[in-house]
Amino acid sequence: MIGLISATAAGAVAAQRLASAWPERTRVYEGPVRDAVGRAFGECAQVVCFLATGAVVRLIAPLLADKGTDPGVVCVDEAGRFAVSLVGGHAGGANALAVEVGEVLGAEPVVTTATDAVGVPGLDTLGLPVEGDVAGVSRALLDGEAVELDLETAWPLPALPPNVRRPAPDAPAGRGGPAIVVTDRVLDAGGHRTGDARVVLRPPSLVVGVGASKGAPADEVSGLVESALRDAGLSPRSLAQLATVDAKADEPGLVEAAARLGVPLVTHSAEELAAVEVPNPSDAPLAAVGTPSVAEAAALVGGGELLVPKRKSERADGRPAMATCAVVRRPPRGRLAVVGLGPGARDLLTPRAKAELRRASVLVGLDQYVDQIRDLLRPGTRIMESGLGAEEERARTAVAQARRGQAVALIGSGDAGVYAMASPALAEASDDIDVIGVPGVTAALAAAAILGAPLGHDHVSISLSDLHTPWEVIERRVRAAAEADIVVTFYNPRSRGRDWQLPKALAILAGHREPTTPVGVVRNASRPDGSHRLTTLAALDPATVDMMTVVTVGNTATRAIAGRMVTPRGYRWQENPEGAE
Ligand code: SAH
Repeated sequence: MIGLISATAAGAVAAQRLASAWPERTRVYEGPVRDAVGRAFGECAQVVCFLATGAVVRLIAPLLADKGTDPGVVCVDEAGRFAVSLVGGHAGGANALAVEVGEVLGAEPVVTTATDAVGVPGLDTLGLPVEGDVAGVSRALLDGEAVELDLETAWPLPALPPNVRRPAPDAPAGRGGPAIVVTDRVLDAGGHRTGDARVVLRPPSLVVGVGASKGAPADEVSGLVESALRDAGLSPRSLAQLATVDAKADEPGLVEAAARLGVPLVTHSAEELAAVEVPNPSDAPLAAVGTPSVAEAAALVGGGELLVPKRKSERADGRPAMATCAVVRRPPRGRLAVVGLGPGARDLLTPRAKAELRRASVLVGLDQYVDQIRDLLRPGTRIMESGLGAEEERARTAVAQARRGQAVALIGSGDAGVYAMASPALAEASDDIDVIGVPGVTAALAAAAILGAPLGHDHVSISLSDLHTPWEVIERRVRAAAEADIVVTFYNPRSRGRDWQLPKALAILAGHREPTTPVGVVRNASRPDGSHRLTTLAALDPATVDMMTVVTVGNTATRAIAGRMVTPRGYRWQENPEGAE
Protein backbone atom coordinates (compact mmCIF):
# COMPACT_ATOMS: atom_id res chain seq x y z
CA MET A 1 0.00 0.00 0.00
CA ILE A 2 1.15 3.55 -0.76
CA GLY A 3 0.31 6.10 1.94
CA LEU A 4 -0.51 9.63 0.75
CA ILE A 5 0.01 12.60 3.06
CA SER A 6 -0.59 16.27 2.39
CA ALA A 7 -0.78 19.46 4.41
CA THR A 8 -1.99 22.12 1.97
CA ALA A 9 -4.94 22.48 -0.40
CA ALA A 10 -2.68 22.06 -3.46
CA GLY A 11 -1.08 19.00 -1.88
CA ALA A 12 -4.48 17.50 -1.18
CA VAL A 13 -5.50 17.97 -4.82
CA ALA A 14 -2.34 16.25 -6.05
CA ALA A 15 -2.78 13.44 -3.51
CA GLN A 16 -6.33 12.97 -4.75
CA ARG A 17 -5.07 12.70 -8.34
CA LEU A 18 -2.76 9.86 -7.32
CA ALA A 19 -5.51 8.25 -5.27
CA SER A 20 -7.88 8.22 -8.21
CA ALA A 21 -5.17 7.00 -10.60
CA TRP A 22 -4.28 4.11 -8.28
CA PRO A 23 -7.40 3.41 -6.18
CA GLU A 24 -6.25 -0.09 -5.26
CA ARG A 25 -2.71 0.84 -4.33
CA THR A 26 -3.13 4.00 -2.27
CA ARG A 27 -4.56 5.16 1.03
CA VAL A 28 -5.01 8.83 1.96
CA TYR A 29 -3.93 9.65 5.53
CA GLU A 30 -5.83 12.55 7.06
CA GLY A 31 -5.24 14.43 10.27
CA PRO A 32 -2.22 16.20 11.75
CA VAL A 33 0.80 15.61 9.53
CA ARG A 34 3.17 14.27 12.19
CA ASP A 35 0.60 11.75 13.27
CA ALA A 36 -0.29 10.81 9.67
CA VAL A 37 3.36 10.22 8.76
CA GLY A 38 3.81 8.05 11.83
CA ARG A 39 0.84 5.84 10.98
CA ALA A 40 1.68 5.61 7.27
CA PHE A 41 5.29 4.70 8.07
CA GLY A 42 4.12 1.78 10.15
CA GLU A 43 1.43 0.56 7.77
CA CYS A 44 2.65 1.18 4.23
CA ALA A 45 5.42 -0.17 2.02
CA GLN A 46 5.73 3.27 0.45
CA VAL A 47 4.77 6.82 1.34
CA VAL A 48 4.27 9.87 -0.85
CA CYS A 49 4.40 13.16 1.04
CA PHE A 50 3.14 16.36 -0.60
CA LEU A 51 5.43 18.37 1.62
CA ALA A 52 8.79 20.12 1.50
CA THR A 53 11.72 17.71 1.73
CA GLY A 54 12.98 19.49 4.85
CA ALA A 55 9.70 18.93 6.67
CA VAL A 56 9.67 15.27 5.68
CA VAL A 57 13.27 14.71 6.76
CA ARG A 58 12.43 16.04 10.23
CA LEU A 59 9.23 14.01 10.46
CA ILE A 60 10.70 10.67 9.43
CA ALA A 61 14.15 10.98 11.03
CA PRO A 62 13.06 9.44 14.36
CA LEU A 63 11.23 6.64 12.52
CA LEU A 64 14.08 5.39 10.32
CA ALA A 65 15.41 1.98 11.30
CA ASP A 66 16.93 -0.05 8.49
CA LYS A 67 17.08 0.56 4.77
CA GLY A 68 16.06 -3.02 4.15
CA THR A 69 12.76 -2.57 5.94
CA ASP A 70 11.99 1.18 5.95
CA PRO A 71 9.31 2.21 3.49
CA GLY A 72 10.37 4.11 0.38
CA VAL A 73 9.52 7.78 0.68
CA VAL A 74 8.82 10.17 -2.19
CA CYS A 75 8.27 13.92 -1.72
CA VAL A 76 6.29 16.05 -4.13
CA ASP A 77 6.71 19.81 -3.94
CA GLU A 78 3.82 22.23 -3.55
CA ALA A 79 3.76 23.12 -7.25
CA GLY A 80 3.87 19.46 -8.29
CA ARG A 81 7.00 19.98 -10.37
CA PHE A 82 9.25 17.36 -8.81
CA ALA A 83 8.84 13.87 -7.36
CA VAL A 84 11.89 13.39 -5.16
CA SER A 85 12.99 9.91 -4.15
CA LEU A 86 14.02 10.73 -0.57
CA VAL A 87 14.78 7.46 1.22
CA GLY A 88 14.53 3.79 0.30
CA GLY A 89 15.50 4.38 -3.31
CA HIS A 90 16.32 0.76 -4.01
CA ALA A 91 14.89 -1.67 -1.46
CA GLY A 92 12.00 0.64 -0.63
CA GLY A 93 11.26 1.16 -4.33
CA ALA A 94 11.24 4.95 -4.00
CA ASN A 95 13.23 5.49 -7.24
CA ALA A 96 10.74 3.59 -9.32
CA LEU A 97 7.84 5.16 -7.42
CA ALA A 98 9.21 8.66 -8.11
CA VAL A 99 9.19 7.83 -11.82
CA GLU A 100 5.64 6.50 -11.63
CA VAL A 101 4.38 9.43 -9.57
CA GLY A 102 6.08 11.75 -12.06
CA GLU A 103 4.18 10.14 -14.89
CA VAL A 104 0.81 10.59 -13.20
CA LEU A 105 1.38 14.15 -12.00
CA GLY A 106 3.54 15.40 -14.86
CA ALA A 107 6.37 15.96 -12.37
CA GLU A 108 10.08 15.47 -12.99
CA PRO A 109 11.34 12.43 -11.07
CA VAL A 110 14.40 13.29 -9.01
CA VAL A 111 16.54 10.24 -8.36
CA THR A 112 19.87 10.76 -6.69
CA THR A 113 21.05 7.17 -6.38
CA ALA A 114 22.43 4.99 -9.17
CA THR A 115 23.22 8.06 -11.21
CA ASP A 116 24.42 6.06 -14.16
CA ALA A 117 20.99 4.51 -14.47
CA VAL A 118 19.05 7.76 -14.42
CA GLY A 119 17.41 8.48 -17.72
CA VAL A 120 16.65 4.81 -18.13
CA PRO A 121 14.05 4.35 -20.84
CA GLY A 122 10.63 3.31 -19.69
CA LEU A 123 10.24 -0.22 -21.03
CA ASP A 124 6.83 0.76 -22.30
CA THR A 125 8.32 3.70 -24.23
CA LEU A 126 10.53 1.67 -26.53
CA GLY A 127 7.89 1.60 -29.22
CA LEU A 128 7.22 -2.14 -28.96
CA PRO A 129 4.35 -3.95 -27.22
CA VAL A 130 5.60 -5.14 -23.86
CA GLU A 131 4.45 -8.00 -21.64
CA GLY A 132 5.48 -9.30 -18.26
CA ASP A 133 6.89 -7.79 -15.11
CA VAL A 134 7.50 -4.23 -16.32
CA ALA A 135 7.68 -2.82 -12.79
CA GLY A 136 10.19 -5.45 -11.65
CA VAL A 137 12.54 -5.07 -14.59
CA SER A 138 12.23 -1.26 -14.50
CA ARG A 139 13.26 -1.31 -10.89
CA ALA A 140 16.27 -3.50 -11.68
CA LEU A 141 17.23 -1.14 -14.52
CA LEU A 142 16.95 1.86 -12.28
CA ASP A 143 18.89 0.24 -9.48
CA GLY A 144 21.78 -0.55 -11.79
CA GLU A 145 21.32 -4.30 -11.37
CA ALA A 146 22.61 -6.50 -14.19
CA VAL A 147 19.75 -7.12 -16.62
CA GLU A 148 20.13 -9.71 -19.34
CA LEU A 149 19.05 -8.79 -22.87
CA ASP A 150 18.02 -11.71 -25.00
CA LEU A 151 17.64 -10.41 -28.54
CA GLU A 152 16.13 -13.61 -29.86
CA THR A 153 14.51 -11.76 -32.76
CA ALA A 154 16.97 -9.12 -33.96
CA TRP A 155 15.46 -5.64 -33.89
CA PRO A 156 16.85 -2.08 -33.90
CA LEU A 157 16.29 -1.11 -30.28
CA PRO A 158 17.04 2.28 -28.77
CA ALA A 159 20.08 2.53 -26.51
CA LEU A 160 19.72 0.66 -23.25
CA PRO A 161 21.70 1.57 -20.16
CA PRO A 162 25.06 -0.09 -19.54
CA ASN A 163 23.68 -2.47 -16.92
CA VAL A 164 21.72 -4.19 -19.71
CA ARG A 165 24.00 -6.83 -21.18
CA ARG A 166 23.85 -9.35 -23.96
CA PRO A 167 24.88 -12.76 -22.60
CA ALA A 168 28.04 -14.25 -24.09
CA PRO A 169 27.12 -16.44 -27.08
CA ASP A 170 28.17 -19.63 -25.27
CA ALA A 171 26.43 -18.80 -21.99
CA PRO A 172 23.60 -21.16 -21.01
CA ALA A 173 20.19 -19.61 -21.58
CA GLY A 174 18.04 -18.46 -18.69
CA ARG A 175 20.66 -18.13 -16.00
CA GLY A 176 18.23 -16.24 -13.86
CA GLY A 177 18.07 -12.63 -12.82
CA PRO A 178 16.02 -9.90 -14.41
CA ALA A 179 15.79 -10.14 -18.18
CA ILE A 180 14.48 -8.39 -21.25
CA VAL A 181 13.59 -10.80 -24.04
CA VAL A 182 12.92 -9.51 -27.55
CA THR A 183 11.05 -12.19 -29.43
CA ASP A 184 8.05 -12.95 -31.59
CA ARG A 185 7.74 -16.41 -30.05
CA VAL A 186 5.30 -17.25 -27.31
CA LEU A 187 7.49 -18.11 -24.34
CA ASP A 188 6.72 -20.70 -21.76
CA ALA A 189 8.11 -20.47 -18.26
CA GLY A 190 10.76 -23.07 -19.11
CA GLY A 191 14.38 -22.04 -18.79
CA HIS A 192 13.41 -19.07 -16.67
CA ARG A 193 13.59 -19.18 -12.91
CA THR A 194 10.24 -18.25 -11.48
CA GLY A 195 10.47 -15.20 -9.29
CA ASP A 196 12.90 -13.45 -11.61
CA ALA A 197 11.55 -10.35 -13.27
CA ARG A 198 11.20 -10.76 -16.99
CA VAL A 199 9.64 -8.64 -19.72
CA VAL A 200 9.03 -9.65 -23.30
CA LEU A 201 9.16 -7.05 -26.06
CA ARG A 202 7.29 -7.90 -29.25
CA PRO A 203 9.01 -6.63 -32.41
CA PRO A 204 6.77 -6.27 -35.50
CA SER A 205 8.62 -9.07 -37.23
CA LEU A 206 5.88 -11.26 -38.69
CA VAL A 207 4.23 -10.89 -42.07
CA VAL A 208 1.28 -13.09 -42.87
CA GLY A 209 0.54 -13.53 -46.57
CA VAL A 210 -3.12 -14.22 -47.23
CA GLY A 211 -5.10 -15.39 -50.21
CA ALA A 212 -8.89 -15.34 -50.31
CA SER A 213 -11.63 -16.36 -52.70
CA LYS A 214 -14.25 -13.77 -53.52
CA GLY A 215 -16.59 -13.41 -50.57
CA ALA A 216 -14.36 -15.19 -48.03
CA PRO A 217 -15.77 -14.32 -44.58
CA ALA A 218 -13.61 -12.19 -42.28
CA ASP A 219 -14.04 -14.77 -39.51
CA GLU A 220 -12.55 -17.44 -41.72
CA VAL A 221 -9.55 -15.26 -42.61
CA SER A 222 -8.79 -13.97 -39.12
CA GLY A 223 -9.41 -17.43 -37.62
CA LEU A 224 -6.92 -18.91 -40.09
CA VAL A 225 -4.27 -16.29 -39.32
CA GLU A 226 -4.72 -16.69 -35.59
CA SER A 227 -4.53 -20.47 -35.66
CA ALA A 228 -1.48 -20.43 -37.95
CA LEU A 229 0.32 -18.18 -35.47
CA ARG A 230 -0.86 -20.16 -32.46
CA ASP A 231 0.17 -23.53 -33.90
CA ALA A 232 3.62 -22.17 -34.73
CA GLY A 233 4.04 -20.71 -31.23
CA LEU A 234 4.12 -17.13 -32.51
CA SER A 235 2.70 -14.06 -30.82
CA PRO A 236 -0.03 -12.13 -32.67
CA ARG A 237 1.42 -9.01 -31.06
CA SER A 238 4.43 -9.36 -33.38
CA LEU A 239 2.22 -9.32 -36.44
CA ALA A 240 3.30 -6.38 -38.63
CA GLN A 241 1.00 -6.72 -41.61
CA LEU A 242 -1.23 -8.90 -43.73
CA ALA A 243 -0.04 -9.03 -47.32
CA THR A 244 -1.88 -10.06 -50.46
CA VAL A 245 -2.18 -9.40 -54.19
CA ASP A 246 -3.42 -6.05 -55.57
CA ALA A 247 -6.55 -7.68 -56.99
CA LYS A 248 -7.67 -8.47 -53.44
CA ALA A 249 -7.04 -5.01 -51.99
CA ASP A 250 -10.77 -4.40 -51.49
CA GLU A 251 -11.84 -7.95 -50.62
CA PRO A 252 -14.09 -7.24 -47.61
CA GLY A 253 -13.09 -10.33 -45.62
CA LEU A 254 -9.39 -9.41 -45.89
CA VAL A 255 -9.94 -5.73 -45.11
CA GLU A 256 -12.05 -6.62 -42.09
CA ALA A 257 -9.64 -9.31 -40.85
CA ALA A 258 -6.70 -6.88 -41.02
CA ALA A 259 -8.69 -4.28 -39.09
CA ARG A 260 -9.57 -6.85 -36.44
CA LEU A 261 -5.96 -7.93 -36.12
CA GLY A 262 -4.95 -4.28 -35.90
CA VAL A 263 -2.48 -4.34 -38.81
CA PRO A 264 -2.39 -2.82 -42.30
CA LEU A 265 -3.34 -4.85 -45.37
CA VAL A 266 -0.44 -4.41 -47.79
CA THR A 267 -0.82 -5.42 -51.45
CA HIS A 268 1.62 -6.31 -54.21
CA SER A 269 1.19 -6.65 -57.97
CA ALA A 270 0.70 -10.10 -59.49
CA GLU A 271 3.95 -9.69 -61.47
CA GLU A 272 5.90 -8.94 -58.31
CA LEU A 273 4.43 -11.98 -56.58
CA ALA A 274 4.99 -14.23 -59.60
CA ALA A 275 8.70 -13.44 -59.40
CA VAL A 276 9.02 -14.71 -55.81
CA GLU A 277 10.29 -18.28 -55.36
CA VAL A 278 7.86 -20.25 -53.22
CA PRO A 279 7.75 -23.87 -52.03
CA ASN A 280 4.07 -24.45 -52.88
CA PRO A 281 3.00 -22.82 -56.16
CA SER A 282 -0.34 -23.85 -57.67
CA ASP A 283 -2.45 -23.35 -60.77
CA ALA A 284 -5.62 -21.96 -59.22
CA PRO A 285 -4.31 -18.51 -58.31
CA LEU A 286 -2.36 -18.38 -61.56
CA ALA A 287 -5.62 -18.60 -63.46
CA ALA A 288 -7.53 -16.28 -61.11
CA VAL A 289 -5.08 -13.45 -60.41
CA GLY A 290 -1.99 -14.14 -62.51
CA THR A 291 0.52 -15.47 -59.97
CA PRO A 292 1.16 -19.08 -58.96
CA SER A 293 1.27 -18.07 -55.31
CA VAL A 294 -0.48 -15.36 -53.30
CA ALA A 295 -0.09 -16.25 -49.60
CA GLU A 296 3.52 -17.48 -49.65
CA ALA A 297 4.70 -14.99 -52.26
CA ALA A 298 3.09 -11.99 -50.53
CA ALA A 299 4.64 -13.04 -47.23
CA LEU A 300 8.06 -13.55 -48.82
CA VAL A 301 8.22 -10.45 -51.05
CA GLY A 302 10.56 -8.60 -48.68
CA GLY A 303 12.66 -11.69 -47.96
CA GLY A 304 12.80 -13.47 -44.64
CA GLU A 305 12.26 -16.91 -43.26
CA LEU A 306 9.12 -18.93 -44.07
CA LEU A 307 7.92 -20.17 -40.67
CA VAL A 308 4.53 -21.52 -41.75
CA PRO A 309 4.13 -22.68 -45.36
CA LYS A 310 0.81 -22.22 -47.11
CA ARG A 311 -2.13 -23.61 -45.20
CA LYS A 312 -5.84 -23.51 -45.83
CA SER A 313 -8.69 -22.53 -43.62
CA GLU A 314 -10.90 -25.22 -42.18
CA ARG A 315 -14.60 -24.77 -42.50
CA ALA A 316 -17.02 -26.26 -40.01
CA ASP A 317 -19.53 -26.92 -42.79
CA GLY A 318 -17.01 -29.01 -44.73
CA ARG A 319 -17.19 -26.72 -47.79
CA PRO A 320 -13.98 -25.88 -49.67
CA ALA A 321 -11.61 -23.51 -47.89
CA MET A 322 -11.89 -19.88 -48.99
CA ALA A 323 -8.64 -18.58 -47.48
CA THR A 324 -4.95 -19.48 -47.40
CA CYS A 325 -2.12 -18.04 -45.37
CA ALA A 326 1.64 -18.32 -44.84
CA VAL A 327 3.80 -16.78 -42.11
CA VAL A 328 7.23 -15.21 -42.62
CA ARG A 329 9.68 -13.68 -40.15
CA ARG A 330 11.00 -10.72 -42.07
CA PRO A 331 14.67 -9.84 -41.89
CA PRO A 332 15.42 -7.16 -39.30
CA ARG A 333 15.61 -3.74 -40.91
CA GLY A 334 17.98 -1.19 -39.52
CA ARG A 335 16.68 2.30 -39.03
CA LEU A 336 18.38 5.46 -40.19
CA ALA A 337 16.89 8.70 -38.90
CA VAL A 338 18.28 11.79 -40.60
CA VAL A 339 17.70 14.47 -38.03
CA GLY A 340 17.95 18.25 -38.40
CA LEU A 341 18.88 19.93 -35.11
CA GLY A 342 17.74 23.42 -36.10
CA PRO A 343 19.91 26.54 -36.03
CA GLY A 344 21.17 26.12 -32.47
CA ALA A 345 18.63 27.16 -29.84
CA ARG A 346 17.28 24.19 -27.91
CA ASP A 347 13.68 25.31 -28.31
CA LEU A 348 14.06 25.31 -32.08
CA LEU A 349 14.88 21.60 -31.98
CA THR A 350 11.60 19.90 -32.84
CA PRO A 351 10.00 17.41 -30.44
CA ARG A 352 10.19 14.84 -33.21
CA ALA A 353 13.92 15.39 -33.57
CA LYS A 354 14.30 14.96 -29.82
CA ALA A 355 12.28 11.73 -29.92
CA GLU A 356 14.44 10.37 -32.74
CA LEU A 357 17.63 11.17 -30.83
CA ARG A 358 16.26 9.11 -27.95
CA ARG A 359 15.12 6.37 -30.31
CA ALA A 360 18.66 5.79 -31.56
CA SER A 361 21.29 3.44 -30.23
CA VAL A 362 24.00 4.88 -32.49
CA LEU A 363 24.51 8.59 -33.11
CA VAL A 364 26.62 9.79 -36.04
CA GLY A 365 27.56 13.42 -36.50
CA LEU A 366 30.02 16.27 -36.53
CA ASP A 367 31.54 16.67 -33.06
CA GLN A 368 30.29 20.22 -32.57
CA TYR A 369 26.70 19.17 -33.33
CA VAL A 370 26.98 16.17 -31.03
CA ASP A 371 27.94 18.57 -28.24
CA GLN A 372 24.71 20.50 -28.84
CA ILE A 373 22.49 17.55 -27.97
CA ARG A 374 24.65 15.18 -25.91
CA ASP A 375 22.48 15.68 -22.83
CA LEU A 376 19.40 14.44 -24.70
CA LEU A 377 20.82 11.03 -25.57
CA ARG A 378 19.87 7.95 -23.67
CA PRO A 379 22.65 6.57 -21.51
CA GLY A 380 24.37 3.83 -23.47
CA THR A 381 24.01 5.54 -26.87
CA ARG A 382 27.07 4.82 -28.98
CA ILE A 383 28.44 8.11 -30.27
CA MET A 384 30.43 8.14 -33.50
CA GLU A 385 31.59 11.70 -33.96
CA SER A 386 34.07 13.09 -36.42
CA GLY A 387 35.55 16.43 -37.37
CA LEU A 388 34.87 18.86 -40.19
CA GLY A 389 35.31 17.56 -43.68
CA ALA A 390 34.58 13.92 -42.99
CA GLU A 391 31.09 14.05 -44.59
CA GLU A 392 31.47 11.05 -46.86
CA GLU A 393 32.87 8.96 -44.06
CA ARG A 394 30.04 9.97 -41.71
CA ALA A 395 27.46 9.11 -44.34
CA ARG A 396 29.04 5.72 -44.96
CA THR A 397 29.32 4.97 -41.25
CA ALA A 398 25.69 5.84 -40.59
CA VAL A 399 24.43 3.66 -43.42
CA ALA A 400 26.75 0.78 -42.51
CA GLN A 401 25.51 0.83 -38.90
CA ALA A 402 21.88 0.84 -40.03
CA ARG A 403 22.56 -2.08 -42.36
CA ARG A 404 23.86 -3.98 -39.36
CA GLY A 405 20.40 -3.65 -37.87
CA GLN A 406 21.03 -0.70 -35.56
CA ALA A 407 18.81 2.29 -34.89
CA VAL A 408 20.98 5.16 -36.12
CA ALA A 409 20.49 8.92 -35.91
CA LEU A 410 22.55 10.95 -38.37
CA ILE A 411 22.47 14.56 -37.31
CA GLY A 412 23.02 17.86 -39.05
CA SER A 413 22.49 21.48 -38.10
CA GLY A 414 19.47 23.33 -39.44
CA ASP A 415 17.82 20.89 -41.78
CA ALA A 416 19.91 17.78 -42.34
CA GLY A 417 18.87 17.74 -45.99
CA VAL A 418 20.00 21.31 -46.78
CA TYR A 419 23.69 21.39 -47.78
CA ALA A 420 24.12 18.57 -45.29
CA MET A 421 24.27 14.87 -44.59
CA ALA A 422 20.99 13.55 -46.02
CA SER A 423 22.13 13.47 -49.65
CA PRO A 424 25.46 11.66 -49.21
CA ALA A 425 23.81 9.22 -46.80
CA LEU A 426 20.87 8.40 -49.02
CA ALA A 427 23.14 8.11 -52.04
CA GLU A 428 24.84 5.29 -50.12
CA ALA A 429 21.72 3.63 -48.74
CA SER A 430 20.02 0.63 -50.32
CA ASP A 431 16.38 -0.31 -49.78
CA ASP A 432 17.19 -2.78 -47.01
CA ILE A 433 16.98 -0.13 -44.31
CA ASP A 434 14.20 2.18 -43.17
CA VAL A 435 14.97 5.87 -43.51
CA ILE A 436 13.13 8.45 -41.45
CA GLY A 437 13.68 12.14 -42.21
CA VAL A 438 13.07 14.72 -39.52
CA PRO A 439 12.97 18.28 -40.86
CA GLY A 440 14.80 21.03 -39.03
CA VAL A 441 14.64 24.82 -39.07
CA THR A 442 17.18 25.72 -41.72
CA ALA A 443 19.42 28.79 -41.37
CA ALA A 444 17.52 30.77 -44.03
CA LEU A 445 14.29 30.45 -42.04
CA ALA A 446 15.90 31.12 -38.68
CA ALA A 447 17.52 34.25 -40.16
CA ALA A 448 14.33 35.37 -41.90
CA ALA A 449 12.39 35.26 -38.64
CA ILE A 450 15.01 37.54 -37.10
CA LEU A 451 15.11 39.94 -40.04
CA GLY A 452 11.35 40.28 -40.42
CA ALA A 453 9.60 38.86 -43.49
CA PRO A 454 12.23 38.78 -46.26
CA LEU A 455 10.95 35.51 -47.76
CA GLY A 456 7.37 36.68 -48.31
CA HIS A 457 7.64 35.99 -52.02
CA ASP A 458 9.65 33.61 -54.21
CA HIS A 459 13.07 32.92 -52.79
CA VAL A 460 16.05 30.71 -53.34
CA SER A 461 19.07 29.50 -51.36
CA ILE A 462 22.47 29.45 -52.99
CA SER A 463 25.60 28.10 -51.42
CA LEU A 464 28.69 30.08 -52.34
CA SER A 465 31.00 27.23 -51.45
CA ASP A 466 32.86 26.22 -54.59
CA LEU A 467 34.50 23.30 -52.83
CA HIS A 468 32.19 20.76 -54.47
CA THR A 469 30.51 22.92 -57.09
CA PRO A 470 32.41 24.71 -59.88
CA TRP A 471 32.17 28.50 -59.63
CA GLU A 472 30.68 28.74 -63.14
CA VAL A 473 27.66 26.74 -61.98
CA ILE A 474 27.20 28.90 -58.90
CA GLU A 475 27.53 32.06 -60.94
CA ARG A 476 24.95 30.86 -63.46
CA ARG A 477 22.47 30.28 -60.65
CA VAL A 478 23.13 33.68 -59.07
CA ARG A 479 22.60 35.30 -62.47
CA ALA A 480 19.33 33.42 -62.98
CA ALA A 481 18.06 34.53 -59.56
CA ALA A 482 19.13 38.09 -60.32
CA GLU A 483 17.31 38.13 -63.65
CA ALA A 484 14.20 36.51 -62.23
CA ASP A 485 14.04 39.01 -59.34
CA ILE A 486 14.06 36.29 -56.69
CA VAL A 487 15.04 36.90 -53.05
CA VAL A 488 18.37 35.11 -52.46
CA THR A 489 19.81 33.67 -49.25
CA PHE A 490 23.50 32.86 -49.46
CA TYR A 491 24.76 29.95 -47.36
CA ASN A 492 28.50 29.40 -46.84
CA PRO A 493 28.97 33.02 -47.93
CA ARG A 494 32.59 33.60 -47.06
CA SER A 495 35.51 31.93 -45.31
CA ARG A 496 39.12 32.84 -44.77
CA GLY A 497 40.23 31.16 -47.95
CA ARG A 498 37.13 32.06 -49.95
CA ASP A 499 36.67 35.79 -49.97
CA TRP A 500 36.00 36.94 -53.55
CA GLN A 501 32.82 34.92 -54.20
CA LEU A 502 30.44 36.99 -52.08
CA PRO A 503 31.42 40.38 -53.61
CA LYS A 504 31.15 38.82 -57.05
CA ALA A 505 27.68 37.40 -56.35
CA LEU A 506 26.48 40.69 -54.89
CA ALA A 507 27.75 42.54 -57.96
CA ILE A 508 25.69 40.26 -60.19
CA LEU A 509 22.57 40.99 -58.13
CA ALA A 510 23.38 44.71 -58.14
CA GLY A 511 23.20 44.61 -61.95
CA HIS A 512 19.46 43.99 -61.62
CA ARG A 513 18.50 45.66 -58.32
CA GLU A 514 18.78 49.13 -56.83
CA PRO A 515 21.80 49.95 -54.61
CA THR A 516 19.25 50.57 -51.84
CA THR A 517 17.90 46.99 -51.98
CA PRO A 518 17.73 45.72 -48.38
CA VAL A 519 20.22 43.03 -47.37
CA GLY A 520 19.99 41.14 -44.08
CA VAL A 521 23.10 39.67 -42.51
CA VAL A 522 22.51 37.17 -39.69
CA ARG A 523 25.32 35.54 -37.78
CA ASN A 524 24.79 32.59 -35.44
CA ALA A 525 21.03 32.83 -35.66
CA SER A 526 19.32 31.67 -32.43
CA ARG A 527 22.62 31.11 -30.65
CA PRO A 528 23.67 33.04 -27.54
CA ASP A 529 26.29 35.05 -29.45
CA GLY A 530 23.96 35.72 -32.38
CA SER A 531 23.88 39.08 -34.15
CA HIS A 532 22.22 40.62 -37.18
CA ARG A 533 22.01 43.79 -39.15
CA LEU A 534 20.00 45.24 -41.95
CA THR A 535 21.96 47.02 -44.65
CA THR A 536 21.79 47.56 -48.43
CA LEU A 537 23.41 46.13 -51.51
CA ALA A 538 25.60 49.24 -51.80
CA ALA A 539 26.55 49.46 -48.13
CA LEU A 540 27.25 45.82 -47.27
CA ASP A 541 30.87 45.28 -46.29
CA PRO A 542 31.70 41.66 -47.21
CA ALA A 543 34.52 41.65 -44.68
CA THR A 544 31.88 41.55 -41.90
CA VAL A 545 30.54 38.25 -43.20
CA ASP A 546 31.91 34.85 -42.22
CA MET A 547 30.99 31.15 -42.31
CA MET A 548 28.63 31.42 -39.35
CA THR A 549 26.50 33.83 -41.36
CA VAL A 550 23.73 33.84 -43.93
CA VAL A 551 23.13 36.82 -46.21
CA THR A 552 19.63 37.48 -47.53
CA VAL A 553 19.26 39.90 -50.44
CA GLY A 554 15.78 41.28 -51.14
CA ASN A 555 14.07 41.53 -54.53
CA THR A 556 13.12 44.82 -56.21
CA ALA A 557 10.02 45.10 -54.03
CA THR A 558 11.67 44.36 -50.67
CA ARG A 559 11.64 47.31 -48.25
CA ALA A 560 13.10 48.14 -44.86
CA ILE A 561 10.12 49.03 -42.69
CA ALA A 562 10.60 50.01 -39.05
CA GLY A 563 13.99 48.36 -39.09
CA ARG A 564 12.62 45.10 -40.50
CA MET A 565 13.11 43.55 -43.89
CA VAL A 566 9.78 43.02 -45.65
CA THR A 567 9.18 41.45 -49.05
CA PRO A 568 5.60 42.07 -50.18
CA ARG A 569 3.49 39.13 -51.23
CA GLY A 570 2.90 40.75 -54.61
CA TYR A 571 1.46 43.87 -56.12
CA ARG A 572 -2.01 42.40 -56.56
CA TRP A 573 -2.12 40.94 -53.09
CA GLN A 574 -4.86 43.31 -51.95
CA GLU A 575 -7.22 42.02 -54.65
CA ASN A 576 -6.72 38.46 -53.45
CA PRO A 577 -8.05 37.08 -56.74
CA GLU A 578 -8.04 33.43 -55.75
CA GLY A 579 -9.15 33.93 -52.22
CA ALA A 580 -5.78 32.60 -51.12
CA GLU A 581 -4.50 33.34 -47.66
N1 SAH B 1 22.10 22.25 -42.88
C1 SAH B 1 22.35 23.64 -42.52
C2 SAH B 1 23.26 24.35 -43.50
C3 SAH B 1 24.65 23.80 -43.55
S1 SAH B 1 25.71 24.73 -44.60
C4 SAH B 1 21.00 24.36 -42.41
O1 SAH B 1 19.98 23.81 -42.86
O2 SAH B 1 20.97 25.46 -41.88
C5 SAH B 1 26.52 25.75 -43.41
C6 SAH B 1 26.09 27.22 -43.58
O3 SAH B 1 24.80 27.37 -43.04
C7 SAH B 1 26.94 28.19 -42.82
O4 SAH B 1 28.09 28.55 -43.54
C8 SAH B 1 26.00 29.37 -42.68
O5 SAH B 1 25.94 30.08 -43.89
C9 SAH B 1 24.66 28.68 -42.51
N2 SAH B 1 24.26 28.56 -41.09
C10 SAH B 1 24.07 27.43 -40.40
N3 SAH B 1 23.63 27.69 -39.16
C11 SAH B 1 23.53 29.03 -39.06
C12 SAH B 1 23.11 29.92 -38.03
N4 SAH B 1 22.70 29.47 -36.83
N5 SAH B 1 23.13 31.23 -38.30
C13 SAH B 1 23.51 31.71 -39.49
N6 SAH B 1 23.90 30.90 -40.50
C14 SAH B 1 23.92 29.58 -40.29
